Amino acid sequence: MVFHGPGDLRAEELPVPVPEPGEVVLKIDAALTCGTDVKTLRRGHPVMIPKVPTVFGHEFAGTVTAVGAGVSLREGDRLVAANSAPCGACAPCRADRPNLCEDLLFVNGAYGEYIALPPRLVSRNVVLLAPSLPAARAAFAEPLACALLAIERARVEAGQTVVVLGHGPLGCLLGMLAASRGARVVMVGKAGWRFDQLKHLGFARWLDASAAGSVVEEIRGLTAGRGADVVIEATGRPEVWEEAVDAVGRGGTVVFFGGCAPGTSIRLDTRRAHYEELALLGAFHHTPGTFRRAVEALESGALAPDRLITHRMRLQEVGRALDLMARGAALKVLIEP
Ligand SMILES: [Zn+2]
Ligand SMILES: [Zn+2]
Repeated sequence: MVFHGPGDLRAEELPVPVPEPGEVVLKIDAALTCGTDVKTLRRGHPVMIPKVPTVFGHEFAGTVTAVGAGVSLREGDRLVAANSAPCGACAPCRADRPNLCEDLLFVNGAYGEYIALPPRLVSRNVVLLAPSLPAARAAFAEPLACALLAIERARVEAGQTVVVLGHGPLGCLLGMLAASRGARVVMVGKAGWRFDQLKHLGFARWLDASAAGSVVEEIRGLTAGRGADVVIEATGRPEVWEEAVDAVGRGGTVVFFGGCAPGTSIRLDTRRAHYEELALLGAFHHTPGTFRRAVEALESGALAPDRLITHRMRLQEVGRALDLMARGAALKVLIEP
């Protein structure tokens, strides 16, 4: 599937890539749709898609079919690759913040039969899969690595009350990770089809943001008036960013996970931020470390996010799959070439 610009995704026949030195070619076994692809299809993406036309999609797992010179992987190896690789040399990389790399190399092409992985990705951000880990579950490694970065930044611990604002696939992954660490997780979303899925995921509580009454008051009510230990914003809407700060308790942590439109500002109660020592953190993308730990969590069975797959489709149906996502009628669509 080739992206030619906003609204223009085409099925095209391309030659199977031949690996250059340091490269690996994978046969894709499973790919997953992502909200980012929906946004990109609508309006392009300056960072992930610097030029068009380009192959498309970024969550996938596959089997090695060919390797370039100097690569230690072998034909038949099953692996999962992140959708980016840091340079390892810039100031953020040297400061162990590789998600903030000034020269992140992005890779697309999950919606295809084969993908070529560039040398930097092969050397820094691929993980071999245990035979027991199905490709459809392994393909969650990338979004899970993003969610794990947020959970690690928030230092989520057992016994804490963690509120997740937003119930898209990433909100669900954030909630599942927090629950796997023993936190009491409160999911906040809007009633409807997707919201009903939450009820099968075993969270402690779910609140309907569209019901009468204030979400912040409800969260205070659930925490003896104190507010949550950690609030994670996963909608990318400024009014919800503000709600996240309102819902956290003294000494608590807010993680801003959902990106808003460029130029957005929010109001902030400086008295609370200062006297209550609120930790207000951004969380962006993933690192090779969170990517590897995400695969470990999938492999150990600590997390089974494939329950978020609501549809399975063929490669030719990617357009329809992304349309379902855009209308909120699917959580994750599994694409099997
Ligand atoms: Zn994604
Ligand atoms: Zn870098």
